[in-house]
Amino acid sequence: MTSDSEDWGGEALYERADPETGATIFIAMHSSRLGPASGGTRMKTYPDLEAARRDARRLSEGMTYKWAAAGFPRGGGKAVLAVPATLSDEERDGLLRRYGSFIQELGGRFWTGADVGTSPRDMDVISETGAPYVFSRTPEHGGAGNSSTWTALGVEAGLRTTCARLFGEPSLSGRKIVVQGAGSVGGELMTRLLAAGADIAFGDVHPQSVRRWRDERGVRFVEPDRVLETPCDIFAPCALGGVLDAASIPRLRCRGVAGAANNQLAEPGDAERLRARGILYAPDFVINAGGAIGITGQESLGWPAEKARAEVLRIGETLTRVYELADSLGITTDAAAKRIAEERLTSSPVEKR
Ligand code: NAD
Repeated sequence: MTSDSEDWGGEALYERADPETGATIFIAMHSSRLGPASGGTRMKTYPDLEAARRDARRLSEGMTYKWAAAGFPRGGGKAVLAVPATLSDEERDGLLRRYGSFIQELGGRFWTGADVGTSPRDMDVISETGAPYVFSRTPEHGGAGNSSTWTALGVEAGLRTTCARLFGEPSLSGRKIVVQGAGSVGGELMTRLLAAGADIAFGDVHPQSVRRWRDERGVRFVEPDRVLETPCDIFAPCALGGVLDAASIPRLRCRGVAGAANNQLAEPGDAERLRARGILYAPDFVINAGGAIGITGQESLGWPAEKARAEVLRIGETLTRVYELADSLGITTDAAAKRIAEERLTSSPVEKR
């Protein structure tokens, strides 16, 4: 079944029930203006199907901005597999293979990779039936592996640009940075920040993360509900979406917000709330694009790792443009980043590689 939502403004939303598992597959194609709709596959248990549908639409729109702001020849897409709370390994693999066949039927209009709830190993299974439209497979299966290292590389570049803007130099040495969520990306980022000499603290709700980072690595732990008001130079959200809203923004004690989480603003007006408080916000879809750029560049465009690294590091330059445009027009950084993306979407298409 295909459905469109006027508010959403996307091209198509495909839905397919999977009676074998009770799951529903959503493939949202927001825009193919710059290339085939591409984005990760999220696997999650939702309270109801409308919540899953909404997530697919919203995330695919975010991908349109992400690719366009990065000047990358891909369009916005996202898949959501809304699954029951319990799924055996066998059921899960069966679902992934049927989902792969669905991708195959779309004949290259939708490309996908790993996202929250899926892994490179899952991409190997999907590509058994969905090849060649699947990226972030394991290296043993010809893929470029986990995206989080690339995402963290891009976030570090964005943090340096943000520090340059706020403090006059890009060095992270001695900078107080609070990381919310020491998971795949947050953990990689913390490793990079420690190597750069930053003064970091973190909050996480998962006992295993707390053990790994506080007990084994000696990193300062902040109770998750105190993370927002912990004084720091930069707050780096690397856990949940919607973390910045009318209630949380007044609690922040930082000069800038720059982290990996998707959809950090609960609503567009939150960008203005941050600006009113004099907090510099690195738009999430710009700073967290490293995984998408690095993995897709290597697997779909044949980039060697060094080229992928250079392209990911350009996130820093894109952010500089965002900050300069926001200043010159007196608009929020979120609005400036969207303008840059929209310019690409409405002007001559980027070279299709
Ligand atoms: P992850 O699940 O590996 O890590 C998330 C971490 O946040 C976990 O350790 C979890 O325990 C912790 N967490 C959850 N709720 C929390 C809370 N209330 N307070 C503190 N910590 C909390 O996920 P990830 O792959 O690292 O992704 C993190 C974020 O970055 C997500 O929003 C994701 O959409 C976004 N992102 C990830 C990538 C990527 O390459 N993985 C790329 C772009 C964006």
